[in-house]
Amino acid sequence: MELWYTERNIVPGLALSVEVSKTLHSEQTEYQHLAIVETPLCGRMLLLDNIIMTNIKDEFVYHEMISHVALNTHPNPKKVLVIGGGDGGAIREIIKHPSVEKAVLVEIDRRVVETSIEYLPEIACGLKDPKVEVHYKDGIKYVQDHKNEFDIILVDSTDPIGPAVGLFEGDFYKSCHEALKEDGIFVAQTESPYYNEELIPKVQKDIRANYPITKLYLAFIPTYPGGCWSFTMGSKKHDPEAVDFSNWAGYKTRYYNPEIHKAAFVLPNFVRELISK
Ligand code: SAM
Repeated sequence: MELWYTERNIVPGLALSVEVSKTLHSEQTEYQHLAIVETPLCGRMLLLDNIIMTNIKDEFVYHEMISHVALNTHPNPKKVLVIGGGDGGAIREIIKHPSVEKAVLVEIDRRVVETSIEYLPEIACGLKDPKVEVHYKDGIKYVQDHKNEFDIILVDSTDPIGPAVGLFEGDFYKSCHEALKEDGIFVAQTESPYYNEELIPKVQKDIRANYPITKLYLAFIPTYPGGCWSFTMGSKKHDPEAVDFSNWAGYKTRYYNPEIHKAAFVLPNFVRELISK
């Protein structure tokens, strides 16, 4: 018998289905429902509250693009903070960067980290690295308690539902600004430009209010609604479109490269309109 998982109405009126061969894990944590399923097409998949978070087949796109654009815009990133991101994919990418000395993960739900280590070792493999520190806390509170400390802050959040609502608000962006050093860079995943037509202009406005350089960029992720996904960078000093890659030594990536870094900021007209609202 064929079994299919359908993510339904995360975007009202839209569903995405994937064949499932087995449910490997399912539990209600303190914060959300967490499941790991095995799929013939995408390998293992992490679901939170029945929403696809990540999977073995396409996770590299999201995790490379949330991390390396900022890491290569900053001339010497040493200390990086990830809020959310309990699967460990962003951390795995951050510690590839040669100048990084410390990567701090602040994830509200301990079970996401523990379950990812058990079932998604390809993604979570960086979490045991000696450069990595993991805290089980609300990221909103964590940034309020840290000032002038990080070179980069990445917000690898769930959709703006439940404990992640505050991760899409102006006060949080202000706290992140204060937690960053004087040339710090902030990046948040900012959902689909096709289906989040209200959220994206609001986030743009709120990030722009805090950072002189605010730019949206895109990547293509088949298992997120619409397939076209946005990230928004707020930078105090360094312009992501002015990076000089002529002496870039590089490191192993499957999606990111200097040409993708530049091309990601080239936006279709409907997205330009969305962010100028
Ligand atoms: N890559 C995924 C996506 O775009 O759908 C998201 C990754 S998922 C691992 C995001 C994580 O953010 C979840 O594990 C969730 O527990 C965590 N999270 C949500 N709100 C949070 C908060 N306020 N502080 C820290 N972590 C939070």
